[in-house]
Amino acid sequence: MTTPSMEDYLEKIYELIKNKGYARVSDIAVELNLQPSSVTKMVQKLAEAGYINYERYRGLVLTPAGAALGESMKDRHAMLEQFLRLIGVPEETLRRDVEGIEHHVSPATFQALQDLTTFFQQSPAYQEAFQTHQAHERTKANN
Ligand code: ZN
Repeated sequence: MTTPSMEDYLEKIYELIKNKGYARVSDIAVELNLQPSSVTKMVQKLAEAGYINYERYRGLVLTPAGAALGESMKDRHAMLEQFLRLIGVPEETLRRDVEGIEHHVSPATFQALQDLTTFFQQSPAYQEAFQTHQAHERTKANN
């Protein structure tokens, strides 16, 4: 079992390694806005759980299980962002909300949201109809 924060770490480590080629404790601390000491503790937990290894010259490396989980967290994050953007959630709110939703959404709900997202993406007319409806609802609410 992974906890929400383990998932966040794996997501960040996966991104760092992908973008920079390595993930240092100091980089992870900056990205997650945490003290390096708490990052070190979590890194140990992740190593015990079999998600990462520490190699003398390369630093942190993801095991195949860690890489798979990190990648799936990143994909889930990206999909949820697309979905919230599609239904008109403002960017700042959207970024904050995804961080919470991604850890708690069930596979069934996630699948349904994904279906709805692709449905809208493939049917611009429906997307427009929804946006018109939404604008109308907002106008009503403000009057
Ligand atoms: Zn995320």
